[in-house]
Amino acid sequence: MENYRGIIGAPDKVVARDDRDAEWVKNKLALEVFEDTDVLEFERPKTIEEEIIAHWIIENLPKFLEAYGLEAPKLISYSDIRMIDSKKSDHKEISNLIEMGGGGAYIPGTNRVYALSGPENLLRSAHIIAHELVHAHSFSSVETELDESGKNIYTHQRRFGLIIVNKDEEFSNFFMFLNEAITEELTRKFAEKYFPGFFLISEEFKKIQEKVTLQGILRNTPMEQLIDEEFSDQKFYCYPNERGILAFLINDIFNFNQGRFTTHDDVFKLFTRAMLHGELLPLARVIEKTYGKGNFRKIAELTRERQPDFINEVTNFLKRTHKRTTDNSKKEGGPTTE
Ligand SMILES: [Zn+2]
Repeated sequence: MENYRGIIGAPDKVVARDDRDAEWVKNKLALEVFEDTDVLEFERPKTIEEEIIAHWIIENLPKFLEAYGLEAPKLISYSDIRMIDSKKSDHKEISNLIEMGGGGAYIPGTNRVYALSGPENLLRSAHIIAHELVHAHSFSSVETELDESGKNIYTHQRRFGLIIVNKDEEFSNFFMFLNEAITEELTRKFAEKYFPGFFLISEEFKKIQEKVTLQGILRNTPMEQLIDEEFSDQKFYCYPNERGILAFLINDIFNFNQGRFTTHDDVFKLFTRAMLHGELLPLARVIEKTYGKGNFRKIAELTRERQPDFINEVTNFLKRTHKRTTDNSKKEGGPTTE
């Protein structure tokens, strides 16, 4: 059943034995979110400027995400945006908390967004907060299970954004890196649209924009070019390789399905709707149509968590299947990616 679309941390969907269990679980989880007020030992208070930025992003990000499939803003307080003291960044728990490719954290089932950034770097803080808030607005569903006595209900995360939780193998959630690519691509689009108009960060952002060379991620840039790019000038945006793979998928889908999509952004929206709204089926169908049967699952596996050398594996897989998509667009006289 659909429920609680509206609270950061509480699930959008609970899959349970019956509606009564689902209702009980949703209330319990929402209450836990509200009651959790712990302050971690490596947090620091936000500066006034950071308070303003947190407010501003909470106000503007959901409006932006609506065009990409978010139904309604979820409730979050600016006090749930927490800063991690960069002077304590060698604390052992921080490395477990902060996501590998970025400088922040959001864990489904909680109402906390963490950013590891110094007070002097407002632009970095804004970027991290925006990225983590995209995660926090992503679709979340949990599943209930009964213990052996049949009396106690346990819950576990079932889906989070595009991620499909792999219960059988710890730390191997499917689509993990594709989920990051979509999240950061949305963050980049949000930054490009909104940051130039926000007085606290606009000047700094303009300077960064001049340096950023990788602008064409969804603008027909071949994947090889993105992977081989010297990324030193554009460290501002994270997950460049993952976003390169996303760009490649989008190009292939656009070219193979001639006439179905007007722009590459239309294809991107299939990915964002799956992530923000939970609609997996339209994306699965178009990927199977483009790459062949069984390859939605294949891509899920190739982009899973803790997948060693996944960039090379996905690249090789996509290059092999890419031929099929370019053959199709040549046959139909459409543009190709080569
Ligand atoms: Zn992330």
